[in-house]
Amino acid sequence: MESGKRLLVDMDGVLADVYRQFISFEEKESGIRLSIDSLLGKEEYEAFKHGRKHVNEPNFFRLAPLMDGAVATLKALNEKYDLFIVSAAMEFPNSLIEKHGWLAEHFPFITWKQIVFCGSKTVVQGDIMIDDHYKNLDHFNGQRILFTQPHNYGHDDRGHTRVNSWAEIAALLL
Ligand SMILES: [Mg+2]
Repeated sequence: MESGKRLLVDMDGVLADVYRQFISFEEKESGIRLSIDSLLGKEEYEAFKHGRKHVNEPNFFRLAPLMDGAVATLKALNEKYDLFIVSAAMEFPNSLIEKHGWLAEHFPFITWKQIVFCGSKTVVQGDIMIDDHYKNLDHFNGQRILFTQPHNYGHDDRGHTRVNSWAEIAALLL
């Protein structure tokens, strides 16, 4: 932890590629495969008609695909920063055990002490926050990094630092 700075990292839409999961669940439900282009700028539940149902189904979170480059970069960040994974998992209580299992499988170097499953993220403090939702970044006092996802695509950055990939996070923070 050479920097001494506390870094907070979101799960859905940052570590976990939930859009790929939404698209795949929607295709199973309705037979329609949505393109990312058709989802740009829309909130998740506007984009995915059955989204609220799907996030409550088994394996939505447990089998979510990883974002490209997330594992290697998070491992390096874990060496440099006081790292915490912060997920508003209480929105979907059934997701808690799935999210825990998913982190243990893909990020075994993250200890239980570094995992914060919470309700509102206004309760957490740190020096740097990486998140894909304005509602989590807008109130944060430290450096705010907005991870591009279809729902925030084309929207104002609101003074946050926008990144489009884990490669860009590595370039910024490592
Ligand atoms: Mg998120």
